[in-house]
Amino acid sequence: RIAEVDGTLNAFLHVNAEEALAVAAEVDAIRAAGGAEAEALHPLAGVPIAIKDLIVTKGQPTTAASKMLEGWMSPYDATVIEKIRAAKLPMLGKTNLDEFAMGSSTEHSAYGVTRNPWNTNRIPGGSGGGSAAAVAAFEAPLALGTDTGGSIRQPGAVTGTVGVKPTYGAVSRYGAIAMASSLDQIGPVSRTVLDSALLQELIGGHDPKDSTSLPNALEGLVAAAQEGASGDLKGLRVGVIKELQGEGYQEGVQARFNESLELLKSAGAEIVEVSCPNFKYALGAYYLIMPSEVSSNLAKFDGVRYGHRVLPEEGPVTIERVMAATRAAGFGDEVKRRIILGTYALSAGYYDAYYGSAQKVRTLIQRDFDAAFEQADVLISPTAPTVAFELGANDNDPLAMYLNDVATIPANLAGVPGITVPGGLSENLPVGIQFLAPAYEDARLYRAGAALE
Ligand code: GLN
Repeated sequence: RIAEVDGTLNAFLHVNAEEALAVAAEVDAIRAAGGAEAEALHPLAGVPIAIKDLIVTKGQPTTAASKMLEGWMSPYDATVIEKIRAAKLPMLGKTNLDEFAMGSSTEHSAYGVTRNPWNTNRIPGGSGGGSAAAVAAFEAPLALGTDTGGSIRQPGAVTGTVGVKPTYGAVSRYGAIAMASSLDQIGPVSRTVLDSALLQELIGGHDPKDSTSLPNALEGLVAAAQEGASGDLKGLRVGVIKELQGEGYQEGVQARFNESLELLKSAGAEIVEVSCPNFKYALGAYYLIMPSEVSSNLAKFDGVRYGHRVLPEEGPVTIERVMAATRAAGFGDEVKRRIILGTYALSAGYYDAYYGSAQKVRTLIQRDFDAAFEQADVLISPTAPTVAFELGANDNDPLAMYLNDVATIPANLAGVPGITVPGGLSENLPVGIQFLAPAYEDARLYRAGAALE
C-alpha cells in the first residue's frame, strides 16, 4: 500500500520494510507454533505501526524533518520504541512532520509536503501530518505522534482519524526530540478509539528516564473504550465549552459539532454549557511559552554535537562562526522565527513582561479547567476551526496558521488529556470532535470517544 500511494502522499520519510517484514514473520511463526509463547503475545503483536520522525529509533534514521539531522542515526531507542519492539509490532518506518514539530500543515518539512488522502490539494494537518495521512490512507493501521499544541489532534481531525494526547506524563517523553518540554506528549494515532486505547496502554506507564513521567500507569483505557462502544453514556455530563465554538468556526464544522451533541444526548449523556473565559489568552500564552522552551531545547543543534556542520564561506573558522553558518543553513524559516521569538521573550528586561505573564495565564487556564470539571465529566469542542485548507493557503501568514490550534492548545497548557474522533464530513472533508478530561482521567476520553465514533 505504501508503494502504491506514498509517491503522491509523501507520508513516509523512511520505509523500514525489511525489518518490519521480519518482525511480522516472527509473530506469524510464534502464532503457528501455539503454546505459552503464542498466548503471551500482546494483542497488538504483528500489527504494523508508523513512527513520527521526531521519535528516535535505533537502526533507522531520525531527522525531525530538518536538514539539521539529515543522515543522523540515534544510538538508542525512545522508551515508547522499546515497548513497541518488546510487544512485536512491526515498525513500518518514519513519518513526515513540520520541522521539529513546528507547524499545523506539514508544509514546513525540509523533505517536502505531505498531502491529505481525502483531497491531495489539501494539507493533512500538522505537525504530525505524516502519521495521520498514513493511517487515513490505509498505509498503516497505527501510528505514533507527538502533541505540543495539537499536533496529534488537529491532523487527526482533518484526516478523519483518531488521535489522543494523553495526560502530561502518562507516556514517557524519553527519546522524543524535545520541542517545548512542559507541553510535549507522545500519543497514539489510529482508525478506531479502541485501537488508540490498546496503543496507549502499551506505550504508557512510569519511566525512570523521564523525570516528569507519572508514578503509576493509567489503567482501564481499553475497558473504557469497550464500554463506550456499547453506545450507552447514561450519567456522563458533557460540557460544551462556550468559548470554543461559533465565531471563527466554519459553518460546516459547527453543524457537525451540533449533530454530535444530539448523538451524545441520544446515548444518554447530559449536555451542559461551561465557560472558560481565559481560553481566549491561550494562543498568546502558548506562543510565548512554546518558543521560549524551543529556543533553549534547540540550542544543542550547534554543528558540534549533532548531524549537520557547515563551515563559513569566507573568513576565520571560529566556533561561533561555524555555529552561525550551521544554524543558518540547517534550520528552516519557521524554526528560526520561533528561536528568535523565544530568545527575545526570555531576555533580561523582558522576562517578566512576556514569559512571566504567560505563565500566569497558564495558571488561569488551569483554573478554568478545574471549574469546568466541577460541572462536567468531559468537555467537548470542535478539534479544529476549519476543515483541511489548501496547500499553500497560509504560506505568508503565520498568524492565520497559528489560529488552527485555538481549540487544542488549552489542554497542553494545563496538562490534561484530549482525543479527537471523526465527526462526519463537510465539503467532503473530515471534521473532528474533541473531548477533554481532567488529568489522569484519560479513560473518560476513550469511553466518550468510542460512543461517538
Ligand atoms: N501547530 C502547533 C505549533 O505549530 C502545535 C505543534 C505541536 O503540537 N507539535 O506549534
